[in-house]
Amino acid sequence: MRQSHPTSPTRPGTKPPTPPFLDLSSAIATFQRDTAPLVREELGRLARDGQRPTQLFLACADSRLVTSMITSSRPGDLFTVRNVGNLVPPPPSPGPETVCDSVAAAIEYAVEVLRVTSITVCGHSGCGAMQALLNAAATAHPSGAAPTASGHPARPSPLTRWLRHGRPSLVRLDDAVTNGRPLIADRPVADDVERLCLLNVVQQLGHLMEHTCVSRRVAEGQLRLHGMYFHVAEARRDTSSTRRQGSSTPSCPTHPRTPDATPPPRPHPRPTPL
Ligand SMILES: [Zn+2]
Repeated sequence: MRQSHPTSPTRPGTKPPTPPFLDLSSAIATFQRDTAPLVREELGRLARDGQRPTQLFLACADSRLVTSMITSSRPGDLFTVRNVGNLVPPPPSPGPETVCDSVAAAIEYAVEVLRVTSITVCGHSGCGAMQALLNAAATAHPSGAAPTASGHPARPSPLTRWLRHGRPSLVRLDDAVTNGRPLIADRPVADDVERLCLLNVVQQLGHLMEHTCVSRRVAEGQLRLHGMYFHVAEARRDTSSTRRQGSSTPSCPTHPRTPDATPPPRPHPRPTPL
């Protein structure tokens, strides 16, 4: 999700340059002409044999995050879920505001049917969802909705309701600021948005572990969870390892551009943080 208030070198009072318009019809025609002949054999094999990805990749919907490019993956490699803020709702429970079956269904399918052996949650720099969470934390009514002129909360929009799954990451942010631990090994964190982007990956890995199918297969040693942070401006990603030796819980990246091992605040089974 593109940052809602991006910082840019544009001078005050001047409009940022208009981005080039993508003619999707033309782009698809180009694919048909130039690329399809090159991948037809491989896609034909996948169509015949079915998909057998070993990876579930869960990333933000931000247009700057091109999952196949940053992972050098090919058709059939990644079972991909994308949404605003790379959020993983905890398992659904009864109630109209807790129905978020889409991500849970994808997790269940990937883990139980496709039998993936790895799940990666990928956050990125300049995430507009994290910026929105920070903005809401500064202005919102305790219900999570922005107050109206009357002081009463407005009915939350779908986006506001969705972002509630990122609120626990805000708790992590408060804790991280308090304990002062560095989140990135080789440089200071740029600002609270980046800090929250990093901590949100850790939090969502915790949410993943609340899904029974995930925690069971992690405990069996059949599934590993990974955290990843992609810095857009530097075209740089970092991901690392996996389950700690002798542990039933997954660990996450511990090298540069990844959050550190700050314990999460939520009282549920959780991975060792990034
Ligand atoms: Zn984003």
